[in-house]
Amino acid sequence: MIKIGTLTCLHANNVCARVGCLKAFQNRSAFFEGYSSDTFLGAMMTCNGCKSANPKEPDVDEGILEKIDRLVSEEIKVMHVGACRLDGKKKECPRITRICEMLEDRGIQVVRGTHRE
Ligand code: SF4
Repeated sequence: MIKIGTLTCLHANNVCARVGCLKAFQNRSAFFEGYSSDTFLGAMMTCNGCKSANPKEPDVDEGILEKIDRLVSEEIKVMHVGACRLDGKKKECPRITRICEMLEDRGIQVVRGTHRE
């Protein structure tokens, strides 16, 4: 059994009910293809918001640090990052990029994608 999770954009949270991510996981489709039936979706976290609303970079944001500590203690092995990581020009949000680096630094694999993009 492996434990995985998702990382999404806090701003997108206003209009997103995680339906696409959860459906893809349940169906083991798109970026969740190949996971065994006993794979456990054990975490769903967001970024800490845009710089204009939250000046704290992820490295010094207590909430982000606490969430990543929790992922480690829960033995989450892979985090899938939603399509909301990309802006209209398909460029990744730098805060999401930084959080992905922080996850990898703690030994958590990052997969960029959940449902079909
Ligand atoms: S920092 Fe990026 S990922 Fe986070 S809310 Fe803002 S646009 Fe979304």
